[in-house]
Amino acid sequence: MLTSAGAVRMWARKSLAQGMMSSAARMGAARGMASMEAYEDFGKHVFSGSVADEYLKKHGASGDILNDPTWTQTHADTVAAAVLDWAVDNGANVFCHWFQPMAASGVRHGQTGQVQNMMMKFNSKGEPEFDFKGKDLIKGETDGSSYPNGGLRATHTAGGYLAIDTSSPIFLRGDTIFVPSAFVSYYGAALDEKTPLLRANAALDKHGTRLLKQLGLDTNGGLRANIGLEQEIFLVPRDAYYKRPDLQLTGRTVIGRDAPRGQEMCDHYMAPLSSATPALACMQEIQDECWKMGIPLKTRHREVAPGQFEFAPLFGSNTTQIDQNIWVMQIIEEVAPRHGLAALLQEKPFNDVNGSGKHNNWSMATADGVQLLAPNAINEATGNDDAFAVIMAAVVAAVDTHGDLMRMAIASPGNDFRLGACEAPPAIVSTYLGDDMTFYLEHFKDGKGKGAYNPGVKTLDLGTREVLPFTVPAEDRNRTSPFPYGGARFEFRAVGSSQNVSMVNTVLNTAVAEKFAEFADRIDAGEDPLTIAKETLEKHWRVIFNGDNYCEEAQAMLTERGIWRIDSGVEAIHTITSEKNTTLFEKMHVLTKEECEAREIILHDHYTGTVEMEAGCLIDMINQHIIPSVKSAGLGPLADLEAAVGTIKSAMAEIHAAESSYKKAQLARVLRLETMIDIRAVCDAAEEVVPANLWTLATYKELLFLDSHVDAAVAEDYFEP
Ligand code: ADP
Ligand code: MG
Repeated sequence: MLTSAGAVRMWARKSLAQGMMSSAARMGAARGMASMEAYEDFGKHVFSGSVADEYLKKHGASGDILNDPTWTQTHADTVAAAVLDWAVDNGANVFCHWFQPMAASGVRHGQTGQVQNMMMKFNSKGEPEFDFKGKDLIKGETDGSSYPNGGLRATHTAGGYLAIDTSSPIFLRGDTIFVPSAFVSYYGAALDEKTPLLRANAALDKHGTRLLKQLGLDTNGGLRANIGLEQEIFLVPRDAYYKRPDLQLTGRTVIGRDAPRGQEMCDHYMAPLSSATPALACMQEIQDECWKMGIPLKTRHREVAPGQFEFAPLFGSNTTQIDQNIWVMQIIEEVAPRHGLAALLQEKPFNDVNGSGKHNNWSMATADGVQLLAPNAINEATGNDDAFAVIMAAVVAAVDTHGDLMRMAIASPGNDFRLGACEAPPAIVSTYLGDDMTFYLEHFKDGKGKGAYNPGVKTLDLGTREVLPFTVPAEDRNRTSPFPYGGARFEFRAVGSSQNVSMVNTVLNTAVAEKFAEFADRIDAGEDPLTIAKETLEKHWRVIFNGDNYCEEAQAMLTERGIWRIDSGVEAIHTITSEKNTTLFEKMHVLTKEECEAREIILHDHYTGTVEMEAGCLIDMINQHIIPSVKSAGLGPLADLEAAVGTIKSAMAEIHAAESSYKKAQLARVLRLETMIDIRAVCDAAEEVVPANLWTLATYKELLFLDSHVDAAVAEDYFEP
């Protein structure tokens, strides 16, 4: 582990000496060639496709067996033998079941659980030899009590069981094989993020398949949800990061005066990934590492805030995408120090500049790839002109009915500072369909017209000889909507950057599955799909909003309409145990009431824990940095600062004394969003007057402007002629 800036630099230098990263490669210009090598490595470290096929063939099977989950019962030893060969060929001799404990969202380096075991035994002569059997691969046992469990496990009944998730491929990193696994208690209660998602996938598959059959399509292999996760991050100079206990421990700055420059010029978004900072080389290395693990981070660009960046992969099945996104986040954090940087994944690291989100692009498709949200494709495949409208009616109804759960799913602590702040959609859950789609569904609903939805195109003519007229979609984008339709997919835009998005997708799939089930039941009972869809659209039309979600009058209007609006994340979490929602989850076999109750406790504890850490940092920073600076300077609000420490401490004592997790979280929210914001103003006033040489914390200027603050030693490595 690299523990100091000096060690990081030494590591970087050593790597350079070993030729792992030449200065030329760092400069970006020469990497064009290097990246071609990476192409050959694509997916080398993921046990699927041609890689799995090659190794399974050596054991008399083929990659096809992995498509049927029953291989865990019929071919476990064969697969284990192939995995072992592949591991050894790639220098790995360790394996683990890799799982995602509940409420691990946003916890740095704590998003996954694993115990790593060597794949070996000693033979009768006392010599070590490789050993990895089917039974080792398909399940594991561990201690479930020390992870958040919301009362589902106690230390004296602690067994936790790990079972391989066959929907997401096994992968390799370093000397270790990672086996994506579900994590449940001895009684089968979900202790993780993955299990409910798999159950929600099953519900969507079951009821979607029923409905599609009624609409004219035998899916032959079922239905799945696909997602693509855009990941926003900040990269800051590592030296400055070491001078910010709040960033180090909580991922966000609890104080910090605005730098004189922020987003005034709108000059950061999609700006050049200049080689004058280490960011480009860092992003390239992240892409290369991900590439090997079969994670195609196709898109990279700068984002709206200074120091902010984004990656987006190609979309795919939700379990694999989520597993991969968790790796993307880990790899980002691991690669950044090698470039003298620290990566910040939290939703709102800095005040007054944009925070980070993770857009969850969501769609549904049959096993053979027919997209349910692509109008022409689904109408053609079903041979039914109304199929698309019926499906859209179900989705619109799901958003209107269960917008509270969608809000619950994005209630990660960091999102408190983002939602509704004109940088992310508000906490009001409406959906944008665009004018053409709205027009089409409105005609369908009112029986005014029938037929396919044909999104219009229009021609743009710049009136020049050199740039010829070209066509664009007739529909604009609406970046203010929490859940816009974007042609074949919806984009849940309000999701937080640090989140494990399993719950987000569990909610989307469960909510839609319920509507599919209702439709299918009614059709079974003799009703006509067309009538059901029209009636449903009529009933839930109010949730469609194509205007500006940032506009306050519009927000008041939507609130008036009765669209789900939950401003407080703590209250949003509480909705998981409402009667409507436990009934939904039980009916769809996704979560029991008891599991919902456990999750509420865990999410509230997670919220309170976050606030406690932030408050603790604030106290330390005031006592150990700001007060001493103010005293040295002989300037600044000394008395207010001293009083602030007492205020935070007594608020924390009150939180500790509260009787329930819910109550604690409510108090923590007040401390965070009221008390700590007032105290921040006092600290920032001190920063304004204390001379720079007496201010011992890194400033926003030092943190946010990589081009002006490249660490000297890193600069030497990077930019030496
Ligand atoms: P934008 O920011 O313009 O929306 P990006 O290219 O940054 O677009 O990201 C779009 C994301 O949506 C990508 O991850 C992409 O793979 C994903 N995506 C595209 N089509 C679908 C679909 N049908 N289902 C799920 N995800 C999709
Ligand atoms: Mg994007």
